[in-house]
Amino acid sequence: MIVANWKMNGSKKLIIEWLDLVSKNIEINQTKKCIFCPPNSYLDFTGTLLKESYKDIRLGAQQCDSELSSPLTGGTNSQMLVDIGCEFVIIGHSEQRIRLKESNQILADKLKNSIRMNLKPIFCIGESLQQKKNNQTKDILIEQLDALSGNLVSECILAYEPVWAIGTGENAEISYIEEIHAFIKEQLVNKTSSKNYISVLYGGSVNLHNCKEIYSSDNVDGLLIGGASLVADTFTKIYNMS
Ligand code: PEP
Repeated sequence: MIVANWKMNGSKKLIIEWLDLVSKNIEINQTKKCIFCPPNSYLDFTGTLLKESYKDIRLGAQQCDSELSSPLTGGTNSQMLVDIGCEFVIIGHSEQRIRLKESNQILADKLKNSIRMNLKPIFCIGESLQQKKNNQTKDILIEQLDALSGNLVSECILAYEPVWAIGTGENAEISYIEEIHAFIKEQLVNKTSSKNYISVLYGGSVNLHNCKEIYSSDNVDGLLIGGASLVADTFTKIYNMS
């Protein structure tokens, strides 16, 4: 699974150009989903384009609100996302966690309501640079995983995104990624009695040069790509190489 997270970038024109180029050049493999997450304001527009012309590319949202029904001005709930064609939603991205000070309770509600609406959450976890320096990575991951109750584990996709690697050009070393992914998988297995396989993606400065090595690790089930996903040609090459 290769996920393009456009963050707060793009326009209708850029989305059309990107979808045209990606869909022409990507060698779609049904076991490696291609998921596009444009900003929320372009989801409906993108969903219509995907349905009409680009069926191999799946739609994901970058965020949703935690409640299904509340007087929340500016809110978008998971039911609305499904209504406009989303199949996936990113929950707990560090940029949202930091800005919105999202608590584990809020994240737990987002996860629960998305799953209730048949929207697959891509749940992001990861430590800050300071936490890494303090040797707190595993404790922080355990704390973040507390938002995910045992019965929901098998319904989620996890994304390990060390905060210090996001948008910095400094990806984690492969040995570190392998160690942490193995740890996350162990925690997930301990949380659930389900035997379903749980995918763990890596995100954080993935680019053309490091994608192959990272994706080829047995413990890495996919990539969550920010900056490098904006250029259609780069994203396509990353997908095809991985
Ligand atoms: C992200 O936004 O989730 C991300 C991983 O960004 P980048 O690839 O730019 O580090």
